[in-house]
Amino acid sequence: MIDAKEALQRLVDGNKRFVNNASIHPNRSQETKDSLVSKQTPFAVVLSCSDSRVPLEIIFDAGLGDIFVIRTAGHVLSQEVMGSIEYAVVHLGVKLIMILGHDNCGAVHSAVETYKSKTLDTISPNLKSILMEIYPAIEKVNENLEEDDFHKEAIRQNVEYQAKDLLVKDAYISKKVDSGEIMVVKANYNLKTSEVEIF
Ligand SMILES: [Zn+2]
Repeated sequence: MIDAKEALQRLVDGNKRFVNNASIHPNRSQETKDSLVSKQTPFAVVLSCSDSRVPLEIIFDAGLGDIFVIRTAGHVLSQEVMGSIEYAVVHLGVKLIMILGHDNCGAVHSAVETYKSKTLDTISPNLKSILMEIYPAIEKVNENLEEDDFHKEAIRQNVEYQAKDLLVKDAYISKKVDSGEIMVVKANYNLKTSEVEIF
């Protein structure tokens, strides 16, 4: 199993290829498919948004068996999400966890809108549960920012908050991070440049 730094480098290198339109589309051969029938050894777990413009295997130029993917709208945490991250760490030996946000995140925009107009109670309970997970991030944004900057900062704060919340709520992951066994990195996907910017 590769360590966290190597894993991060692999993601960075893959994204560079994608940015430069030089993707090599690795690990899609019949041989790879056959080798993955009975086991998987992904090198990273990435929690990102469900947004259709952020497909992880494409933006990181990765293939089958490479990334343990968890996606929710706004990459919000839930017990199931944390359990999935733990599964990847405990049972698959993954050393790198990435929390990846992205520009123009609809979930964050909706959260900002309902937060500012105080209309959270007008939406469905399931959608509400997602937006409520983003509210603590919005509360950290300077309210004097112009609309555009406010949205941008809310997106950044949402990555910061979800990463921090993971460590607050998941004692198992937090312990492993403290001991240096695993690493949590925060990043943002730039829709214009296709680049993943590590915080
Ligand atoms: Zn999004």
